[in-house]
Amino acid sequence: MKGLEKISKFARARLNRGLPSSLIYFVTNVCNLKCEHCFYWKQLNTSVEDLTLEEIEKISRHLAWLNNLSLSGGEPFLRKDLAGILEIFYRNNSLQFSLIPTNGYFLDPTLTVLKKLRSLCPKLKLTIQVSLDGTREIHDRIRGVKGSFDKAFKSLEALREYQRNHAGLEVVTNTVVNNKNFEDVLELYRLLKERFRGMHVGLSLYRGGGFGDNLLPPTEPQWQQIIEILRQQERGEMKRSPALGNWYHRMRTDYLDYVNLRALHGEVSPWNCSAGDIIGVLDHNGDVKVCENYPPFGNVRDYNYDFEALWGSEKAQVMRRLVRECFCNHPCFLQASTSYYLSNQATILLYNLHKNLSLEFKKSSRKKHFLELQQAQSGS
Ligand code: SF4
Ligand code: SF4
Repeated sequence: MKGLEKISKFARARLNRGLPSSLIYFVTNVCNLKCEHCFYWKQLNTSVEDLTLEEIEKISRHLAWLNNLSLSGGEPFLRKDLAGILEIFYRNNSLQFSLIPTNGYFLDPTLTVLKKLRSLCPKLKLTIQVSLDGTREIHDRIRGVKGSFDKAFKSLEALREYQRNHAGLEVVTNTVVNNKNFEDVLELYRLLKERFRGMHVGLSLYRGGGFGDNLLPPTEPQWQQIIEILRQQERGEMKRSPALGNWYHRMRTDYLDYVNLRALHGEVSPWNCSAGDIIGVLDHNGDVKVCENYPPFGNVRDYNYDFEALWGSEKAQVMRRLVRECFCNHPCFLQASTSYYLSNQATILLYNLHKNLSLEFKKSSRKKHFLELQQAQSGS
């Protein structure tokens, strides 16, 4: 498998000049909320040094093909030129997919961006991910601003309605689960599933780094209870549309659940992280990092916006060597790494085979035990 991995890595490097095909770009550090779980809080609303459109244009000319671009922040829709940013990557890097997580506070600017994108990036597949942390009271408490739930929910309704007539747009939600909202998560899930049929309702584990007093991830049993109910529901939905993609998606989800459970248990699950290879991070001020958990290895402004030169620099290589020994349960990097690395796909396959075989074994030994019991009872 290692040989195959090397060949595919070599092919990718040749095809994309060793540049990332997935980029997480923090378009601004300006935000109107004060979420307890925000890992970016120290940088929020400090000096605004956001890259300008002209600077972004220069950077994108030094990137190759971009499959996926996440526009994060801060609140991305506070940038008035957001559609222009996407258009640059769409034009220069043949961008295919984009994800914009949002707190859902600014509906009109969001709709304005979507309308502009129809003509600027007609073939772009765009996902808007509205963050909800619980039902009204819990959400507002965690987000630090009263009324933020109502704003986000209203935006969600309007955006789902807009999605009905606009192919290529998907509107979903995500909830960061922690010790302050885990009791409310299932109620929120039911509310969303009832109101928005077929919508993807995502959950991710709080990873730490926020400022909230005593804010912690949920405990292992709490998380297990939540995901068991969720996965049951998802499997019911998948049965209605059986497809090979669903089959692989289910295997991958099971593996990611396992990684998360182990992380809550204080254990790491070795997987090959693609940070600094397939995926990288561009910060609002031009800093470049292998992932959000590492310090920047340079700033594009100091490299005359030559992203390729910075990405290939010695400082970047040092970071890459560190990443080889690094494991975590960051959902974006796990998704990218399990999509692109054959070794991770093999791990997923082996994990599922092992799990199913052990389950079968458990079932058959339970059945055997039951038959023996029956025989013993009838004989007595
Ligand atoms: S909306 Fe996002 S960037 Fe703003 S405080 Fe909340 S988590 Fe942080
Ligand atoms: S394993 Fe996690 S912390 Fe380490 S480089 Fe990858 S994404 Fe970053």
